[in-house]
Amino acid sequence: MVQLVDYYHHDIDAADNFASKAFNRLRNDGIPAVPQNFEVWYVYFANVNPKLKDEINNILMDQPQLTSRDCQDLYEKYINNGQDRETVQRAGDQIQATLQDISSVVQNVKDVTSNYTGSLKDIKDKVTETPTPEELRDIVDALTRDTEKMMQYNAELEKRLDQSSLVMNDLKRDLERIRREAITDGLTGLANRKSFDDQIARLWRDCRKNGGTFSLLMVDIDHFKAFNDNHGHQVGDQVLRLVAMTMINEVKGQDMAARYGGEEFAIILPGTNINAAKTVGENLRKAIEQKEIVNRSTGNQLGRITVSIGAAQFYGMEDVDGLISRADKALYASKNKGRNQVSVAETPHDAAE
Ligand code: GH3
Ligand code: MG
Ligand code: MG
Repeated sequence: MVQLVDYYHHDIDAADNFASKAFNRLRNDGIPAVPQNFEVWYVYFANVNPKLKDEINNILMDQPQLTSRDCQDLYEKYINNGQDRETVQRAGDQIQATLQDISSVVQNVKDVTSNYTGSLKDIKDKVTETPTPEELRDIVDALTRDTEKMMQYNAELEKRLDQSSLVMNDLKRDLERIRREAITDGLTGLANRKSFDDQIARLWRDCRKNGGTFSLLMVDIDHFKAFNDNHGHQVGDQVLRLVAMTMINEVKGQDMAARYGGEEFAIILPGTNINAAKTVGENLRKAIEQKEIVNRSTGNQLGRITVSIGAAQFYGMEDVDGLISRADKALYASKNKGRNQVSVAETPHDAAE
Protein backbone atom coordinates (compact mmCIF):
# COMPACT_ATOMS: atom_id res chain seq x y z
CA MET A 1 0.00 0.00 0.00
CA VAL A 2 2.83 2.37 -0.76
CA GLN A 3 0.54 4.85 -2.44
CA LEU A 4 -1.69 5.10 0.61
CA VAL A 5 1.16 5.47 3.07
CA ASP A 6 2.50 8.31 0.93
CA TYR A 7 -0.94 9.87 1.07
CA TYR A 8 -1.24 10.01 4.81
CA HIS A 9 1.78 11.59 6.41
CA HIS A 10 -0.20 14.15 8.40
CA ASP A 11 0.62 15.02 12.00
CA ILE A 12 -1.93 14.69 14.81
CA ASP A 13 -3.45 18.16 14.39
CA ALA A 14 -3.73 18.03 10.62
CA ALA A 15 -5.15 14.49 10.66
CA ASP A 16 -7.66 15.50 13.38
CA ASN A 17 -8.72 18.44 11.31
CA PHE A 18 -9.32 16.42 8.11
CA ALA A 19 -10.92 13.56 10.03
CA SER A 20 -13.42 15.78 11.82
CA LYS A 21 -14.30 17.63 8.61
CA ALA A 22 -14.88 14.28 6.89
CA PHE A 23 -16.89 12.96 9.81
CA ASN A 24 -19.07 16.08 10.07
CA ARG A 25 -19.68 16.09 6.37
CA LEU A 26 -20.91 12.46 6.41
CA ARG A 27 -23.03 13.13 9.47
CA ASN A 28 -24.65 16.23 7.92
CA ASP A 29 -25.33 14.36 4.68
CA GLY A 30 -26.83 11.41 6.58
CA ILE A 31 -24.29 8.99 5.10
CA PRO A 32 -22.85 6.27 7.36
CA ALA A 33 -19.25 7.00 8.37
CA VAL A 34 -18.06 3.54 7.34
CA PRO A 35 -14.35 3.46 6.42
CA GLN A 36 -14.83 3.74 2.65
CA ASN A 37 -17.14 6.79 2.77
CA PHE A 38 -14.91 8.33 5.43
CA GLU A 39 -11.79 7.79 3.39
CA VAL A 40 -13.26 9.51 0.32
CA TRP A 41 -14.00 12.66 2.35
CA TYR A 42 -10.72 12.50 4.28
CA VAL A 43 -8.82 12.40 0.98
CA TYR A 44 -10.96 15.31 -0.24
CA PHE A 45 -10.23 17.55 2.75
CA ALA A 46 -6.58 16.50 2.97
CA ASN A 47 -6.29 17.53 -0.68
CA VAL A 48 -4.05 14.60 -1.54
CA ASN A 49 -5.79 13.49 -4.72
CA PRO A 50 -6.61 16.38 -7.07
CA LYS A 51 -8.59 14.20 -9.49
CA LEU A 52 -10.84 12.89 -6.74
CA LYS A 53 -11.34 16.42 -5.45
CA ASP A 54 -12.24 17.76 -8.93
CA GLU A 55 -14.73 14.99 -9.48
CA ILE A 56 -16.41 15.60 -6.12
CA ASN A 57 -16.61 19.33 -6.86
CA ASN A 58 -18.18 18.55 -10.24
CA ILE A 59 -20.75 16.24 -8.67
CA LEU A 60 -21.57 18.89 -6.07
CA MET A 61 -22.42 21.37 -8.84
CA ASP A 62 -25.37 19.17 -9.82
CA GLN A 63 -26.51 17.84 -6.46
CA PRO A 64 -26.29 19.06 -2.87
CA GLN A 65 -24.41 16.07 -1.47
CA LEU A 66 -22.65 12.80 -2.28
CA THR A 67 -24.81 9.68 -1.91
CA SER A 68 -23.45 6.42 -0.50
CA ARG A 69 -23.35 5.23 -4.07
CA ASP A 70 -21.23 8.22 -5.14
CA CYS A 71 -18.83 7.60 -2.25
CA GLN A 72 -18.58 3.95 -3.18
CA ASP A 73 -17.92 4.68 -6.87
CA LEU A 74 -15.29 7.31 -5.98
CA TYR A 75 -13.67 4.92 -3.53
CA GLU A 76 -13.46 2.17 -6.15
CA LYS A 77 -12.22 4.56 -8.81
CA TYR A 78 -9.62 6.58 -6.89
CA ILE A 79 -8.69 4.68 -3.73
CA ASN A 80 -9.32 0.96 -3.91
CA ASN A 81 -7.92 0.85 -7.40
CA GLY A 82 -4.60 2.06 -6.03
CA GLN A 83 -4.60 -0.73 -3.48
CA ASP A 84 -5.29 -3.29 -6.17
CA ARG A 85 -2.48 -1.97 -8.33
CA GLU A 86 -0.29 -2.18 -5.24
CA THR A 87 -1.27 -5.83 -4.65
CA VAL A 88 -0.58 -6.72 -8.28
CA GLN A 89 2.78 -4.94 -8.10
CA ARG A 90 3.60 -6.77 -4.86
CA ALA A 91 2.58 -10.09 -6.44
CA GLY A 92 4.96 -9.41 -9.32
CA ASP A 93 7.79 -8.58 -6.90
CA GLN A 94 7.12 -11.70 -4.86
CA ILE A 95 7.08 -13.92 -7.93
CA GLN A 96 10.42 -12.49 -8.98
CA ALA A 97 11.94 -12.91 -5.52
CA THR A 98 10.64 -16.48 -5.32
CA LEU A 99 12.04 -17.39 -8.74
CA GLN A 100 15.37 -15.83 -7.77
CA ASP A 101 15.42 -17.86 -4.56
CA ILE A 102 14.57 -21.12 -6.31
CA SER A 103 17.10 -20.57 -9.06
CA SER A 104 19.90 -19.92 -6.56
CA VAL A 105 19.03 -23.14 -4.68
CA VAL A 106 18.87 -25.05 -7.96
CA GLN A 107 22.30 -23.65 -8.88
CA ASN A 108 23.67 -24.85 -5.51
CA VAL A 109 22.19 -28.29 -6.02
CA LYS A 110 23.68 -28.40 -9.51
CA ASP A 111 27.13 -27.58 -8.13
CA VAL A 112 26.81 -30.18 -5.39
CA THR A 113 25.50 -32.76 -7.85
CA SER A 114 28.42 -32.21 -10.15
CA ASN A 115 30.87 -32.55 -7.20
CA TYR A 116 29.07 -35.68 -6.15
CA THR A 117 29.31 -37.12 -9.67
CA GLY A 118 33.03 -36.27 -9.59
CA SER A 119 33.60 -38.05 -6.29
CA LEU A 120 31.60 -41.10 -7.45
CA LYS A 121 33.92 -41.34 -10.43
CA ASP A 122 37.02 -41.07 -8.18
CA ILE A 123 35.67 -43.79 -5.96
CA LYS A 124 34.93 -46.04 -8.93
CA ASP A 125 38.52 -45.57 -10.13
CA LYS A 126 39.91 -46.34 -6.68
CA VAL A 127 37.73 -49.45 -6.26
CA THR A 128 38.93 -50.74 -9.62
CA GLU A 129 42.51 -50.47 -8.34
CA THR A 130 41.93 -53.27 -5.74
CA PRO A 131 42.12 -51.22 -2.53
CA THR A 132 43.19 -52.42 0.92
CA PRO A 133 40.46 -52.89 3.57
CA GLU A 134 41.51 -49.53 5.15
CA GLU A 135 41.33 -47.80 1.81
CA LEU A 136 37.96 -49.38 1.17
CA ARG A 137 36.70 -48.13 4.57
CA ASP A 138 37.86 -44.59 3.72
CA ILE A 139 36.15 -44.86 0.37
CA VAL A 140 32.85 -45.90 2.00
CA ASP A 141 33.17 -43.08 4.56
CA ALA A 142 33.71 -40.51 1.83
CA LEU A 143 30.83 -41.92 -0.16
CA THR A 144 28.53 -41.74 2.90
CA ARG A 145 29.56 -38.14 3.62
CA ASP A 146 29.01 -36.98 0.05
CA THR A 147 25.72 -38.82 -0.21
CA GLU A 148 24.46 -37.23 3.02
CA LYS A 149 25.44 -33.79 1.75
CA MET A 150 23.65 -34.50 -1.49
CA MET A 151 20.49 -35.58 0.36
CA GLN A 152 20.66 -32.49 2.51
CA TYR A 153 20.74 -30.20 -0.52
CA ASN A 154 17.89 -32.08 -2.12
CA ALA A 155 15.86 -31.76 1.07
CA GLU A 156 16.61 -28.02 1.11
CA LEU A 157 15.47 -27.69 -2.49
CA GLU A 158 12.30 -29.60 -1.72
CA LYS A 159 11.60 -27.33 1.26
CA ARG A 160 12.14 -24.17 -0.78
CA LEU A 161 9.90 -25.50 -3.55
CA ASP A 162 7.17 -26.27 -1.00
CA GLN A 163 7.49 -22.76 0.41
CA SER A 164 7.28 -21.16 -3.00
CA SER A 165 4.27 -23.16 -3.95
CA LEU A 166 2.55 -21.81 -0.79
CA VAL A 167 3.55 -18.26 -1.74
CA MET A 168 2.31 -18.81 -5.28
CA ASN A 169 -1.02 -20.12 -4.01
CA ASP A 170 -1.49 -17.01 -1.86
CA LEU A 171 -0.68 -14.81 -4.82
CA LYS A 172 -3.10 -16.71 -7.01
CA ARG A 173 -5.83 -16.16 -4.42
CA ASP A 174 -5.07 -12.41 -4.15
CA LEU A 175 -5.15 -11.96 -7.89
CA GLU A 176 -8.36 -13.97 -8.20
CA ARG A 177 -9.97 -11.78 -5.53
CA ILE A 178 -8.93 -8.62 -7.37
CA ARG A 179 -10.28 -9.98 -10.62
CA ARG A 180 -13.58 -10.87 -8.97
CA GLU A 181 -13.88 -7.50 -7.22
CA ALA A 182 -13.20 -5.67 -10.46
CA ILE A 183 -16.32 -7.15 -12.03
CA THR A 184 -18.58 -7.16 -8.96
CA ASP A 185 -20.70 -4.41 -7.44
CA GLY A 186 -19.52 -3.99 -3.85
CA LEU A 187 -22.91 -3.32 -2.29
CA THR A 188 -25.06 -6.00 -3.92
CA GLY A 189 -22.59 -8.62 -5.14
CA LEU A 190 -24.16 -8.47 -8.61
CA ALA A 191 -22.13 -7.95 -11.76
CA ASN A 192 -21.14 -4.27 -11.92
CA ARG A 193 -21.68 -1.78 -14.70
CA LYS A 194 -18.37 -2.63 -16.29
CA SER A 195 -19.19 -6.34 -16.61
CA PHE A 196 -22.64 -5.42 -17.89
CA ASP A 197 -21.08 -3.24 -20.62
CA ASP A 198 -18.61 -5.99 -21.53
CA GLN A 199 -21.20 -8.74 -21.58
CA ILE A 200 -23.78 -6.89 -23.66
CA ALA A 201 -21.09 -5.84 -26.17
CA ARG A 202 -19.88 -9.44 -26.40
CA LEU A 203 -23.41 -10.80 -26.99
CA TRP A 204 -24.16 -8.08 -29.52
CA ARG A 205 -21.03 -8.97 -31.51
CA ASP A 206 -21.83 -12.65 -31.29
CA CYS A 207 -25.42 -12.21 -32.51
CA ARG A 208 -24.29 -9.92 -35.34
CA LYS A 209 -21.75 -12.48 -36.45
CA ASN A 210 -23.58 -15.74 -35.92
CA GLY A 211 -27.23 -14.68 -35.85
CA GLY A 212 -29.41 -15.33 -32.83
CA THR A 213 -30.91 -12.89 -30.39
CA PHE A 214 -31.02 -11.80 -26.78
CA SER A 215 -33.19 -9.60 -24.61
CA LEU A 216 -32.57 -6.91 -22.06
CA LEU A 217 -34.58 -5.95 -18.98
CA MET A 218 -34.05 -2.59 -17.33
CA VAL A 219 -35.33 -2.53 -13.76
CA ASP A 220 -35.81 0.55 -11.56
CA ILE A 221 -37.09 0.66 -7.99
CA ASP A 222 -40.30 2.69 -7.61
CA HIS A 223 -40.31 5.78 -5.38
CA PHE A 224 -36.99 4.82 -3.93
CA LYS A 225 -36.07 8.38 -3.09
CA ALA A 226 -39.04 8.61 -0.75
CA PHE A 227 -38.13 5.24 0.77
CA ASN A 228 -34.60 6.46 1.41
CA ASP A 229 -35.82 9.75 2.83
CA ASN A 230 -38.26 7.99 5.16
CA HIS A 231 -36.06 5.17 6.38
CA GLY A 232 -32.47 6.31 5.80
CA HIS A 233 -29.77 5.31 3.39
CA GLN A 234 -28.71 2.23 5.29
CA VAL A 235 -32.16 0.69 5.04
CA GLY A 236 -32.14 1.83 1.40
CA ASP A 237 -28.93 -0.13 0.88
CA GLN A 238 -30.55 -3.14 2.51
CA VAL A 239 -33.39 -2.90 -0.02
CA LEU A 240 -30.89 -2.74 -2.88
CA ARG A 241 -29.37 -5.98 -1.59
CA LEU A 242 -32.80 -7.57 -1.28
CA VAL A 243 -33.68 -6.67 -4.88
CA ALA A 244 -30.29 -8.02 -6.00
CA MET A 245 -30.87 -11.33 -4.19
CA THR A 246 -34.33 -11.67 -5.72
CA MET A 247 -32.84 -11.05 -9.15
CA ILE A 248 -30.23 -13.74 -8.60
CA ASN A 249 -33.01 -16.18 -7.71
CA GLU A 250 -35.02 -15.31 -10.81
CA VAL A 251 -32.27 -15.63 -13.41
CA LYS A 252 -30.55 -18.81 -14.48
CA GLY A 253 -27.63 -20.21 -16.39
CA GLN A 254 -26.24 -17.76 -18.93
CA ASP A 255 -28.40 -14.83 -17.78
CA MET A 256 -26.62 -11.92 -16.17
CA ALA A 257 -28.12 -9.69 -13.49
CA ALA A 258 -26.17 -6.46 -13.01
CA ARG A 259 -26.36 -3.24 -11.05
CA TYR A 260 -26.62 -0.64 -13.77
CA GLY A 261 -26.24 2.34 -11.44
CA GLY A 262 -27.87 3.71 -8.25
CA GLU A 263 -31.22 1.94 -7.87
CA GLU A 264 -31.32 0.72 -11.45
CA PHE A 265 -30.59 -2.84 -12.48
CA ALA A 266 -30.31 -4.68 -15.77
CA ILE A 267 -30.74 -8.28 -16.80
CA ILE A 268 -29.23 -9.68 -19.98
CA LEU A 269 -31.00 -12.78 -21.28
CA PRO A 270 -29.02 -14.57 -24.02
CA GLY A 271 -30.99 -16.55 -26.61
CA THR A 272 -34.26 -15.18 -25.23
CA ASN A 273 -37.10 -13.61 -27.23
CA ILE A 274 -39.28 -10.78 -26.00
CA ASN A 275 -42.15 -13.01 -24.80
CA ALA A 276 -39.87 -15.08 -22.61
CA ALA A 277 -38.11 -11.90 -21.42
CA LYS A 278 -41.46 -10.40 -20.46
CA THR A 279 -42.22 -13.52 -18.40
CA VAL A 280 -38.87 -13.27 -16.60
CA GLY A 281 -39.67 -9.61 -15.88
CA GLU A 282 -43.17 -10.43 -14.62
CA ASN A 283 -41.82 -13.17 -12.33
CA LEU A 284 -39.21 -10.80 -10.94
CA ARG A 285 -41.74 -8.01 -10.47
CA LYS A 286 -44.09 -10.35 -8.56
CA ALA A 287 -41.28 -11.83 -6.45
CA ILE A 288 -40.19 -8.34 -5.37
CA GLU A 289 -43.65 -7.02 -4.56
CA GLN A 290 -44.18 -10.02 -2.28
CA LYS A 291 -41.19 -9.30 -0.07
CA GLU A 292 -41.95 -7.69 3.25
CA ILE A 293 -39.19 -5.21 4.13
CA VAL A 294 -38.00 -5.42 7.72
CA ASN A 295 -35.53 -2.98 9.26
CA ARG A 296 -32.76 -5.29 10.45
CA SER A 297 -31.70 -3.11 13.35
CA THR A 298 -35.15 -2.34 14.79
CA GLY A 299 -37.20 -5.29 13.51
CA ASN A 300 -39.85 -2.78 12.27
CA GLN A 301 -41.89 -3.73 9.23
CA LEU A 302 -41.45 -1.11 6.55
CA GLY A 303 -43.98 -2.33 3.99
CA ARG A 304 -43.13 -3.41 0.48
CA ILE A 305 -41.38 -2.02 -2.53
CA THR A 306 -42.08 -2.45 -6.20
CA VAL A 307 -40.08 -2.16 -9.40
CA SER A 308 -40.87 -0.97 -12.89
CA ILE A 309 -39.37 -2.87 -15.80
CA GLY A 310 -38.73 -2.25 -19.49
CA ALA A 311 -38.02 -5.19 -21.82
CA ALA A 312 -36.45 -5.08 -25.27
CA GLN A 313 -35.27 -7.76 -27.67
CA PHE A 314 -32.30 -7.36 -29.98
CA TYR A 315 -33.43 -7.72 -33.60
CA GLY A 316 -30.07 -7.38 -35.28
CA MET A 317 -30.23 -3.92 -36.82
CA GLU A 318 -29.40 -1.53 -34.00
CA ASP A 319 -26.36 -0.82 -31.85
CA VAL A 320 -26.12 -1.55 -28.12
CA ASP A 321 -27.04 2.03 -27.16
CA GLY A 322 -30.16 1.84 -29.30
CA LEU A 323 -31.25 -1.36 -27.57
CA ILE A 324 -30.61 0.07 -24.10
CA SER A 325 -32.45 3.23 -24.98
CA ARG A 326 -35.53 1.26 -26.17
CA ALA A 327 -35.52 -0.76 -22.95
CA ASP A 328 -35.20 2.50 -21.00
CA LYS A 329 -38.15 4.03 -22.82
CA ALA A 330 -40.20 0.94 -22.03
CA LEU A 331 -39.17 1.30 -18.37
CA TYR A 332 -40.41 4.89 -18.35
CA ALA A 333 -43.62 3.77 -20.00
CA SER A 334 -44.07 1.43 -17.01
CA LYS A 335 -43.46 4.37 -14.66
CA ASN A 336 -45.98 6.54 -16.50
CA LYS A 337 -48.63 3.83 -16.52
CA GLY A 338 -48.52 3.67 -12.73
CA ARG A 339 -45.32 1.71 -11.89
CA ASN A 340 -45.02 -1.91 -10.66
CA GLN A 341 -45.34 -3.30 -14.17
CA VAL A 342 -43.40 -4.64 -17.14
CA SER A 343 -43.60 -2.88 -20.52
CA VAL A 344 -42.32 -4.17 -23.81
CA ALA A 345 -40.27 -1.81 -25.96
CA GLU A 346 -41.39 -0.76 -29.40
CA THR A 347 -39.51 -2.60 -32.14
CA PRO A 348 -36.67 -0.56 -33.66
CA HIS A 349 -38.76 0.02 -36.82
CA ASP A 350 -41.72 1.45 -34.83
CA ALA A 351 -39.36 3.42 -32.63
CA ALA A 352 -37.81 5.09 -35.67
CA GLU A 353 -41.18 6.36 -36.89
P1 GH3 B 1 -39.19 6.53 -9.56
O1 GH3 B 1 -40.30 5.67 -9.07
O2 GH3 B 1 -39.62 7.48 -10.60
O3 GH3 B 1 -38.04 5.71 -10.03
O4 GH3 B 1 -38.71 7.41 -8.33
P2 GH3 B 1 -37.40 7.26 -7.50
O5 GH3 B 1 -37.57 8.03 -6.24
O6 GH3 B 1 -37.04 5.83 -7.34
O7 GH3 B 1 -36.32 7.89 -8.47
P3 GH3 B 1 -35.19 8.96 -8.26
O8 GH3 B 1 -34.29 8.78 -9.46
O9 GH3 B 1 -35.77 10.31 -8.03
O10 GH3 B 1 -34.43 8.56 -6.96
C1 GH3 B 1 -33.50 7.54 -6.93
C2 GH3 B 1 -32.98 7.46 -5.52
O11 GH3 B 1 -32.12 6.35 -5.36
C3 GH3 B 1 -32.18 8.68 -5.12
C4 GH3 B 1 -31.03 8.15 -4.34
O12 GH3 B 1 -31.04 8.67 -3.03
C5 GH3 B 1 -31.27 6.65 -4.28
N1 GH3 B 1 -30.04 5.90 -4.42
C6 GH3 B 1 -29.22 5.81 -5.49
N2 GH3 B 1 -28.15 5.04 -5.20
C7 GH3 B 1 -28.27 4.61 -3.93
C8 GH3 B 1 -27.49 3.79 -3.05
O13 GH3 B 1 -26.41 3.28 -3.40
N3 GH3 B 1 -27.95 3.56 -1.80
C9 GH3 B 1 -29.13 4.12 -1.40
N4 GH3 B 1 -29.55 3.85 -0.17
N5 GH3 B 1 -29.88 4.90 -2.18
C10 GH3 B 1 -29.47 5.16 -3.43
MG1 MG C 1 -36.52 4.72 -9.04
MG1 MG D 1 -33.74 5.61 -11.18
